[in-house]
Amino acid sequence: MAVSHLLFLPGDGIGPEVTNEVRRVVEWFNARGAGFEIEHDLVGGCAYEAHGQAVSDATMALASAADAVLFGAVGGPKWDRVPYEVRPEAGLLRLRKDLELFANLRPAICFTALAESSSLKRDLVEGLDIMIVRELTGGVYFGEPKVITDLGNGQKRAVDTQVYDTFEIERISRVAFELAAKRKNKVTSMDKRNVMRTGVLWNEVVSAVHEREYPGVELDHMLADAGGMQLVRAPKQFDVIVTDNLFGDMLSDIAAMLTGSIGMLPSASLGLPSAATGKRRALYEPVHGSAPDIAGKGIANPIAMIASFGMALRYSFNMSVEADLLDRAIAAALDDGLRTGDIAAPGTKTIGTAAMGTAIIEKLDRLSA
Ligand code: NAD
Repeated sequence: MAVSHLLFLPGDGIGPEVTNEVRRVVEWFNARGAGFEIEHDLVGGCAYEAHGQAVSDATMALASAADAVLFGAVGGPKWDRVPYEVRPEAGLLRLRKDLELFANLRPAICFTALAESSSLKRDLVEGLDIMIVRELTGGVYFGEPKVITDLGNGQKRAVDTQVYDTFEIERISRVAFELAAKRKNKVTSMDKRNVMRTGVLWNEVVSAVHEREYPGVELDHMLADAGGMQLVRAPKQFDVIVTDNLFGDMLSDIAAMLTGSIGMLPSASLGLPSAATGKRRALYEPVHGSAPDIAGKGIANPIAMIASFGMALRYSFNMSVEADLLDRAIAAALDDGLRTGDIAAPGTKTIGTAAMGTAIIEKLDRLSA
């Protein structure tokens, strides 16, 4: 049986608590023939304590060799004053940069049982299933020059540079088209071609990749501001949205909030396929942080982390049957009314992290029987 290597980087705060529930889910799949091997290592504040660095070179080597990295969360008040270069978040940034994880995938899925906790009306969000594909390593967050200059007359000038090359737009649009082909076959590309040169190039390159390589996938273009409006007006019109780093940052947060709690949101960051295996480099993580306010209490919602492993099954291991099963197990636990504190209605009964993990595993048992 082929062995798949998972590197777990649980990190700080609630990271280890929610990652532990994923370990149980992985063991469930292993007991039924999946061949996952798990290695653990340190990242973030705990790595700083151990090595004086937020991620060590040895950990980076493990991450590059792994088939997928499962990342918990990093940071906390304990490390607020450590030097900037070794702050916990630097570990995540190095992983993204060195593994060249240029495509950030954020699904916005609304579970029927949680439709009431959305800020939108039930019929607008019930059954929602969209995927935002955000370019993660280019654009205005990285473009040079990026400076504040003192003009000497009491004024300062700040400059950020939005820059995209053809290859960056090509590779992110390929990720979007490939995803859409496995979903509802529709991509909406969002840019600001009406006021930005990068938007003109974005639009041109996405269209060219579409025409040349993915003519069978439906493609629409939308201005990013109109896209923001459409996301809250009629979100179910979308399947896959592809956009740049800046617009993706905002649009994915808007989409996330359509679905309720931050404790429910998984994500994936993908890189180029490796020449040796053909597999994309990949890191899977919940959208939430280390939640120091609830860390150590055993009450964090593990669903975002478990659903991140579900994305790994789907996108790194081509195990969509198993990924669907896991998604159905999560939905079934929610349908039974089981809630961690973050998704419970005020005054209703809640369960803890491990109990939610157990409930999902019991549903896996039942659904696969
Ligand atoms: P956070 O996501 O950690 O917490 C925000 C709120 O949501 C808190 O009230 C928290 O209790 C709650 N929450 C988050 N995840 C939850 C879960 N799974 N179940 C139940 N409730 C949950 O964001 P923050 O408070 O702004 O940041 C805390 C620390 O995490 C900071 O040090 C920050 O830098 C770091 N952070 C790390 C990442 C990451 O590792 N990718 C992302 C965001 C923030």
